[in-house]
Amino acid sequence: MVVGAGPNGLAAAIALARAGRGVRLLEGQATVGGGCRSAELTLPGYVHDTCSTVHALALASPFLRQLPLAEHGLELVHPDAPLAHPLDDGSAVVLERSVADTARGLGADGRAYRRLFDPLVRDAGPLFGELLAPLRAPRHPLLLGRFGLSAVRSAASLARSRFEGERARALLAGCCAHSMLSLRSPVSAAFGIVLALSAHAVGWPVARGGSQRLADALADHLRSLGAAIETGRPVESLDELGQAAPVLLDVTPRQLLALAGTRLPDRYRRALERYRYGPGIFKLDWALDGPIPWTAAEVARAGTVHLGGTLDEVAAGEQDTFEGRHAPRPFVLLVQASRFDDTRAPAGKHSAWAYCHVPSGSTRDMTAAIEAQVERFAPGFRDLIAARSTMDSAEVERRNPNYVGGDINGGLQDIRQLFTRPVARPVPYSTPLPGVYLCSSSTPPGGGVHGMSGYWAARAALR
Ligand SMILES: Cc1cc2nc3c(=O)[nH]c(=O)nc-3n(C[C@H](O)[C@H](O)[C@H](O)COP(=O)(O)OP(=O)(O)OC[C@H]3O[C@@H](n4cnc5c(N)ncnc54)[C@H](O)[C@@H]3O)c2cc1C
Repeated sequence: MVVGAGPNGLAAAIALARAGRGVRLLEGQATVGGGCRSAELTLPGYVHDTCSTVHALALASPFLRQLPLAEHGLELVHPDAPLAHPLDDGSAVVLERSVADTARGLGADGRAYRRLFDPLVRDAGPLFGELLAPLRAPRHPLLLGRFGLSAVRSAASLARSRFEGERARALLAGCCAHSMLSLRSPVSAAFGIVLALSAHAVGWPVARGGSQRLADALADHLRSLGAAIETGRPVESLDELGQAAPVLLDVTPRQLLALAGTRLPDRYRRALERYRYGPGIFKLDWALDGPIPWTAAEVARAGTVHLGGTLDEVAAGEQDTFEGRHAPRPFVLLVQASRFDDTRAPAGKHSAWAYCHVPSGSTRDMTAAIEAQVERFAPGFRDLIAARSTMDSAEVERRNPNYVGGDINGGLQDIRQLFTRPVARPVPYSTPLPGVYLCSSSTPPGGGVHGMSGYWAARAALR
């Protein structure tokens, strides 16, 4: 029995079904996908991804990439360039698929960029295998050691020590800001390195037709293995599940506490109560009358755009959020998928989304702050807005109980909680309740659409 049809619940169910087990998957919402869903949030004919759009981690995932998802309707579309980071001088730094091409845009820092990424990209396959796994004896210790030397550092110190110029520093800062940590925190560099590495090694594609297609392909594959999926079936207590075993829960610690009632032993319960969630997000979806008019023409080639200027500015905004304040000029992550996938908007029209980080549970409307950041690098943007949909952190959690306080990673991913999530146990997926496992992004390797938490939880349950 699997509860929750997010990418991890679906991956867990597939891993169990492929091992020959009969599987039932119960999803509380009307559709499968969790953070991998699409909906017409603004106007008829516009497809918006309610959460994830960029599927680098799905491609890097040792489990998802071996599934026959193309046979179940999934088509991944690669933008010309994974990422652009515009600057106030009217130029933009572009993260290209190739390390060499990216380095060429970084001037004097090009060589340092190649020194950082060339060796990692060469061994990206085995490295992703190590990074998307629970804490264990490494299969490739030298490789992991090389990555770890830079990855354990804070984003700010790595950027300042490796690079001389603002362009390379800003590029790295934007990637590291996905961590939702202070850029002064240890391991905040790890997220930026992994994201840039994935751009070079596998690309940052989007699912043609919207992320729902990825979730639907996973669900279709699961059904083809004989499993049953029930949607609109929220589970409120483990008692509802009868004698089913094993039970894998695509939920975070707070929900496990509620589902298990008094069944959990005190020590484990207290450890779950101490689990820390990170900041939230405020998200905007737009229906647009045309493509975003970027000042720097090369930004049009990128699927993802990071809006926040220099390293210092990005770091200051993230620091504000991390310390519980709303940043006046927040760092904004924007995705313009309709530029590369014409099924997402009516002919000649476009859709895009953006979010910024905010304090946990925030209900402040960040529309003006986010749109000011877009307008800063694309004057005239506001005139193109035909409709918008907004979600503050409270609404993000209301739509998906796994996003506690709007935290989209299922819990803070700092050095203490990255590998020991949700609590330090030899098998982090197991719980003290016999046959009950956690399989969400609150278990290693954490947030993102990679399905590896589900895969490892299923492996633990099968063992
Ligand atoms: C705005 C936004 C943008 C993002 N962008 C990206 C991106 O571009 N790329 C990327 O890789 N990641 C991205 N993410 C993160 C990614 O979506 C998540 O990390 C990922 O979906 C986590 O997968 P999961 O299976 O652990 O949980 P979820 O996807 O959250 O799924 C959990 C599922 O369990 C169900 N559920 C929970 N409790 C119960 C219950 N009691 N009974 C029944 N069902 C239940 C929920 O309804 C949900 O369907 C983004 C997230 C957000 C919100």
